[in-house]
Amino acid sequence: MAQVVIRDLNKKFDEVHAVKNVNLHIKDKEFMVFVGPSGCGKTTTLRMVAGLESITSGEVLINDTVVNELPPMDRDIAMVFQNYALYPHMSVYDNMAFGLKMRKFERAEIAKRVQEAADILDIGQLLKRKPRQLSGGQRQRVALGRAIVRHPQVFLFDEPLSNLDAKLRVQMRVELKKLHNRLGTTAIYVTHDQVEAMTLGDRVVVMKDGVVQQVGAPLELYNQPANRFVAGFIGSPAMNFATVSLAEHDGAVWVEGPDFRIRPPQSSAGRLRGHAGRQVVLGIRPEDLRVANGSDPADLGFDAVVEVTEQLGSEILLDVKAGPASMVASVEPTVPAKVGDRLRLALNPDRLHFFDTQTEAAI
Ligand code: ATP
Repeated sequence: MAQVVIRDLNKKFDEVHAVKNVNLHIKDKEFMVFVGPSGCGKTTTLRMVAGLESITSGEVLINDTVVNELPPMDRDIAMVFQNYALYPHMSVYDNMAFGLKMRKFERAEIAKRVQEAADILDIGQLLKRKPRQLSGGQRQRVALGRAIVRHPQVFLFDEPLSNLDAKLRVQMRVELKKLHNRLGTTAIYVTHDQVEAMTLGDRVVVMKDGVVQQVGAPLELYNQPANRFVAGFIGSPAMNFATVSLAEHDGAVWVEGPDFRIRPPQSSAGRLRGHAGRQVVLGIRPEDLRVANGSDPADLGFDAVVEVTEQLGSEILLDVKAGPASMVASVEPTVPAKVGDRLRLALNPDRLHFFDTQTEAAI
């Protein structure tokens, strides 16, 4: 059993308040991902859990024990770094064995654990090589192997895939997922890549400016973002935003844009009513827009002019101008849209998001 609890955690570097009152409960066997843009404080939070950064205030608990003052070596964690941090003069075997030797494990036990990890990672044939004789992906496996042999209570990953090319990154992502399914070790993983966060995380913590914005399962973040930042950060291409007015006519709430008027579904009408008479930010995901089929009056939507088309094979991204707003629509790859075309984009009223213009919180 290994759970990690973070309580009221703060980190200040002189004038920079890098981590602000973070509270998290990472459950046993959970794969928790911290994601956010550069400088949001995710690495600093991870490093405080690891013991590599001092804590300004608050607590980190591993299995109910406060570890604030415990050196990294005594925390029963293993960390995998972005740059792999392999010893260049040592063989793969010695790199993997090093942490165990330092901890005075017996030679036979070390050999057994290195072999076991090498089998899991399929690097048994590389054990005699030096790091410079390995590809980037193989180095990454060795770095993982070095963490696995320790049988730690918690794995900490600091952007471990960011030095790999795009294809290898996707492959290693799957390997990491398999590894976690197999070992079940509690893991905290830092990345700035929202796709990595969504695909790897049992739950994801979205951070911005040192503050946790939302914690939830990937689909929860996608379907019910807590605020405009999370809505724009999770999902690719990013959610479209436009400022609209909320008006009340004949007892019903209407969403009014520059050249469209939509009656929101009953499910959100109640929440929107409190904002009637005000402007709000409307969010629509590119995948929730489609090209309307001609004259169907049931299609709710708006007119748009195509500015750029991006054919991706499985979909076309249409960059359009709708009144003053620029939007992206992800549509069927067979849609014959050309630059300059004027078309009608239909939207799914059940998939609209609304945000307060001031607080940016979801409505
Ligand atoms: P990145 O993805 O770029 O690593 P991050 O989200 O991991 O970003 P942190 O590295 O945790 O962000 O940094 C958070 C803030 O703390 C940033 O403003 C950064 O400049 C600052 N910071 C980090 N380390 C130090 C340090 N040793 N001294 C001073 N400021 C620091």
